[in-house]
Amino acid sequence: MATSTTSRTGIPAIRPSGRPRGLGRCRTGATFRPESLLADQAMTRHTTKKGDRAYPFESSLAGAANRREEIRLGRYFKLAPWLLSCLVAGHATASPTEVIDTHLHGDRDPVAQLEALRASGITTIAVSTSWEDQQRYVEGKPMSVLHGLMFPCPQGKVPYSLQDCHADGREWPGVEWTEARIKSGRIDFLGEILTQYYGISPSDARMDPYYSLAVRHDLPVGIHTGSAGPDHGSPNFREDLGNPALLRDMLVRHPGIRLWIMHAGAPFFDETVALMREYPNVHADISVINNPRIVPPEAFAAMMRTLMDAGLGDRIMFGSDNADIATVRASLDALTFLDAAQKQAILHDNAERFFRIERNAGAVAPGNTRKVQDVD
Ligand SMILES: [Zn+2]
Repeated sequence: MATSTTSRTGIPAIRPSGRPRGLGRCRTGATFRPESLLADQAMTRHTTKKGDRAYPFESSLAGAANRREEIRLGRYFKLAPWLLSCLVAGHATASPTEVIDTHLHGDRDPVAQLEALRASGITTIAVSTSWEDQQRYVEGKPMSVLHGLMFPCPQGKVPYSLQDCHADGREWPGVEWTEARIKSGRIDFLGEILTQYYGISPSDARMDPYYSLAVRHDLPVGIHTGSAGPDHGSPNFREDLGNPALLRDMLVRHPGIRLWIMHAGAPFFDETVALMREYPNVHADISVINNPRIVPPEAFAAMMRTLMDAGLGDRIMFGSDNADIATVRASLDALTFLDAAQKQAILHDNAERFFRIERNAGAVAPGNTRKVQDVD
């Protein structure tokens, strides 16, 4: 459980109380999560039409009572295989105790959102939403927060949820404004970069000052690629602008930039693999492709196998994009061709290295003081 407290800015913050719900360990170290029992059934009721892309927990309270009952019943039917897997497979089913969600957006109820994430083992999030909403996500054990800068915003809006990216309606943050907030530790990465929603190439010259900032301050850059869900509200969106091959020009102009291809570029997946093979500084997150409501599990498995066969297993990062967290975690758990070490890398180690989390951790003052500041 977690309780909501009020930060110095009067915005609800998250304070944990006690150990995460529903966690139990078998003797071999595997973690049992009652929530994961429901991955293929009850969760569908808790997601609205737009839920996979924007605010997925709108109906979760209404379903909570039923869900508890289903968890209780589900135990009887599913506990036996779980025990067996612990005893027989042992280390092969071990799951990391710390998981990094590299692709998260705002929620109308951050308390419930972070509670659900914690229940599925998420301990660090990389969040990007409107600048104002972003200030609601503050550091707090056991959840660490990396803050992004989302831009350029089509018509000044965050896609799907359509609140203003900035209070004054601007589409682009000022370059000096951005650098000042990087220096004060309020921006940990540039992303989600919305060039595709805005209707321009990710290598458009207007992006160059920001990419230069990222290189100068050693920040990761996460760019939306691939396709998009319905009702995003961005009239200039073009699917072809989500082709990762378009990133080649900016990679040439900004050597060494720490780039991450969000959603792994699908359906332009071959281009993602080619680019990652060519540029060792390019990573990818697996949000959306790990969501069985958008991409069939067989297709996800095939893409993951291709990435692993290409020797890219140390540059793939877990992300949810606000999809039901237990469902997308289960998608990865289901890949039997990955061993425990490979899953550990995807769920945690690769992102820890990419975001330089250990280095940054020393700079975070205790008591949630670093990120809770004025909104401007
Ligand atoms: Zn995206």
